Amino acid sequence: MGVAGRSIYSSKRWERARFLAKRRDKFACVQCGSRNKLEVHHLRPVRAAPELAFDLRNLKTLCRDCHEVETNRELGRVPDAAQTAWKSAVAELARPHRKEK
Ligand SMILES: [Zn+2]
Repeated sequence: MGVAGRSIYSSKRWERARFLAKRRDKFACVQCGSRNKLEVHHLRPVRAAPELAFDLRNLKTLCRDCHEVETNRELGRVPDAAQTAWKSAVAELARPHRKEK
């Protein structure tokens, strides 16, 4: 099998696809509108769909922050709402009781 995930990022073809994606998205993050630190995200990860690596329909422009969130979500690292609620409930229980005056 060919296309290793990483190698596409150093190709000329990716440089071009990335530029086209950014231009299409008007050089702004599609999530928050930021124009700083723009990166191009694959909707379907390259390792899952290498044939879509340069397909503009599979690309969207994100700032680095949004990209990180997106990537973490993909990797299942972001806790879902239920888990977050559970954690804060636990934190609440662990908090020492306020002293009565
Ligand atoms: Zn953003």
